[in-house]
Amino acid sequence: MKTFCGRANPTTGAMEWLEEDENYDYHQEIARSRYADMLHDKDRNVKYYQGIRAAVSRVKERGEKAIVLDIGTGTGLLSMMAASAGADFCYAVEVFKPMANAAVKIVEKNGFCDKIKVINKHSTEVTVGPDGDMQCRANILVTELFDTELIGEGALPTYEHAHKYLVQEGCEAVPHRARVYVQLVESKRMWSWNKLFPVHVEAEDGEKIIVSPSEMENCPGVPSVCDIQLNQMPSSDFTILSDVVTMFSVDFSKPVRSASTYYRVQLEPVKSGKAQIVLSWWDIDMDPSGMINCTMAPYWVKSTSAFQWRDHWMQCVYFLPNEEPVLQGEKVYLTACRDEYSVWYKLQKARGEEKNKADVRVESPVCRCQAHLLWNRPRFGELNDQNRTRQYIESLMKVLKTDSVCLCISDGSLLPVLAHYLGAKQVQYFFLCFFFFKFLKANHLEDKIKIIEARPELLTSSHLEDKKISVLVGEPFFTTSLLPWHNLYFWYARTAVTSHLTSNVTVLPESASLHMMIVEFQDLWRIRSPCGICEGFDVQTMDDMIKNSLNFRESKEAEPHPLWEYPCKSLSDPREVLTFDFRKTVPQHCLSTEGSVSLSRKGKSHGAVLWMEYHLAADISISTGLIKISNEKGNCEWNPHCKQAVYFFSSVIDSETLSDLPSAVTYAINFNTKTGEIAMDFQL
Ligand code: SAH
Repeated sequence: MKTFCGRANPTTGAMEWLEEDENYDYHQEIARSRYADMLHDKDRNVKYYQGIRAAVSRVKERGEKAIVLDIGTGTGLLSMMAASAGADFCYAVEVFKPMANAAVKIVEKNGFCDKIKVINKHSTEVTVGPDGDMQCRANILVTELFDTELIGEGALPTYEHAHKYLVQEGCEAVPHRARVYVQLVESKRMWSWNKLFPVHVEAEDGEKIIVSPSEMENCPGVPSVCDIQLNQMPSSDFTILSDVVTMFSVDFSKPVRSASTYYRVQLEPVKSGKAQIVLSWWDIDMDPSGMINCTMAPYWVKSTSAFQWRDHWMQCVYFLPNEEPVLQGEKVYLTACRDEYSVWYKLQKARGEEKNKADVRVESPVCRCQAHLLWNRPRFGELNDQNRTRQYIESLMKVLKTDSVCLCISDGSLLPVLAHYLGAKQVQYFFLCFFFFKFLKANHLEDKIKIIEARPELLTSSHLEDKKISVLVGEPFFTTSLLPWHNLYFWYARTAVTSHLTSNVTVLPESASLHMMIVEFQDLWRIRSPCGICEGFDVQTMDDMIKNSLNFRESKEAEPHPLWEYPCKSLSDPREVLTFDFRKTVPQHCLSTEGSVSLSRKGKSHGAVLWMEYHLAADISISTGLIKISNEKGNCEWNPHCKQAVYFFSSVIDSETLSDLPSAVTYAINFNTKTGEIAMDFQL
C-alpha cells in the first residue's frame, strides 16, 4: 500500500503530493516524536511513579483490587509503574498502532505480560464487560494526554468519556488535578509576533510611514497556540503587570465536562502599563494532597532547584485582541474561553462587570485581517525587526535608480513598498499572489504597486506592460519553506523569469551562502537521544524503534528548530560551505562540497547546525542563523525570527579534554539543484 504526503517543492514553491511507502508516515511520526523527550523527563517520571504508588496504596487500603486504566500508554511506562506498585491489573490503551506494538514488546521484555493488557484502540472505542476489552471498569485512571496548553491533545473529551464508560465512580486519578496559571505582561518583543508596527522610511522627499490596515488593529489573530520555551525569554524583554493567578483547574478524579465554557478572574495590576500578553502554564498534582506536584512554571516563578528541561511541555503566549492600558491597583477582569481543545483570552475593565459577563463570546478567534493567515508569528517578528528593515532600506538605496523597474518575489513582503518609497516613482511590480491588497490600500499604494498573481514560469510581458525588469528583489521568504535552504526558491523563480530581466539586471540579494557549525546543545540533544532504562524499566525497544525510523530514509535529514529557544555552544568555527549566485541562473549540475572542520572547544558534539546568509548588496548581509558567538565559552546567539537546520549525529563524541577530541569532523554536503534539497553526511 502507498500513502500520499503533501510537501512543498522547493524548486517550484508548489504543494505536491508525493507517493510514499506506506511506512513513511509512521516513521516520520516516530522519528520526530516527543517520546524520547518524555522518557528523559526525570521530574515527570518520578512524580508519576510517586502518584501511581500512592493511588494504588489508597485503593489497597480500602481493601479493593487495584484495576488501572492507562489511556495513551505509549511505551507502556505508566502501566509498568502501576504493576510494579502492586496493581492487580492494568488496561493499557494506545491508539497509535506502532506504539501499541512497541508497548506489547516492552511490557513483555519487562516481565509484565500477566498484569498488563495492551489495547490498540482509541479510548472511546474501548468496550467493558465479560466479552469486552476490559473485564470491568477501572478504579485507577492514569493518563498523560497533556500538551503545553494542557487540553490541546484532547484530554478533556477523553476524560469525559472515560468517566462515563470506563472507570468507577470515585476512582483515583493520576494526575489528580491540573491548574492553569496566568500572568499579564507587557512585552514589545512578544507583541511584535502578533501586530505589525508602523515602519518608518526616510525617503528623499521626507519620512514615510508604512501602516497596517485598521482591520489588523482589532484582529483577534489565529487560534493556534503559541508555545515557546519561555525560560529563554530574558526578563528584560517583558514587564510583569500582574501576579500569577490560577485561571482554572480540572479535577480528573471527577466527571469532566469538555463542552465550551469560560472562566473569569479579577486581577489587580501590580504596575501600570499596556496589557498585551497573557503568559500561561500549568501544573499537575499527582495526588489529592498536592504533595506531588509537577510544574511548568517559568524561571521567575519557581526556584531554580525545581528546574527540569523539557520540550514536550513548555509555556504558552496568548495575545490579547488589543493592547489595553491598565493602571496599578485598578482592577481588571481576565476571561479565559475554551472549547474542547484550545484556550483564548480577553481582558475587560472592571466597570460594567454585569454587562461584560453577558458579553462573553465563546467563539474561538478567527483572523479577520488576513495578515495572521499570511504571516506566522516569527514572520511578524521578522517584519517588525527594525534593524533588519534598515539593512534592506540601505541595500535598496544602493541599487534603485529613478527609472528602475522593480519586481519582488517573496511571500507577504514589505519590500515593494520600501522600494516604491526609496527609488523609482515608476510602477513597482509585486509578484505572487500571497499578499493582501488591504495592506496596499491602507497605504494608498494600490495604483502604485501592481500585484501580479502568476507563478514565475507563467509570467508574461503583458503582466509587465512590456517592460523589462532592471531590479529583482526578494527577502527571500516563502511560507512553504521548512528548512533554511527552501527559501532558495527565490533562485528558481529568478531563473524562471530570466527572459523578462534586462541584461544588466541587479538582483537583491545578489547571493546566498550556506553555513555550518558543530555544536553541543545544553538540552535539545534529549529529544533525539536513546533512553535505555527509564525509572528501572527497559525501554530500549523504543530507542531502537526511533533509531530505525530515523534511518528509514537512506540519508538522515536535518530538522528545523528555532535555536534562540535551545541554547548551545559552538565546538567549531562557523564555516561557509556552499554559495548560491542569484545573478546567475540555477545550474543544471548539483552543488557539492566536502571538507573537514576542526573542533576548537571541548564538549559533546551533538550535531551540526546549518543556516543561510543573504548578501543583499556590497557589504550588507543578513544571517538567518548565527548572529554571534557571545563569549569564550562558545555560547551562541541566533536570529530570533528563524528556524535553523539541525542535523543530529547518530553517535555523540564526549570528550573531557581537547586532546581526546577527534581533531576534525568531516562532512559531505550536496545541494541537488533538481530537487532543491540538501543531503549531508558527517563522519566523526
Ligand atoms: N503514557 C506514556 C505516553 C504518553 S504520550 C508516557 O507517559 O510516557 C500520549 C500517548 O497517548 C500517545 O502515544 C497517543 O497516541 C496516545 N493517545 C492520546 N489520546 C488517546 C486516546 N484517547 N486513546 C488512546 N490513545 C491515546
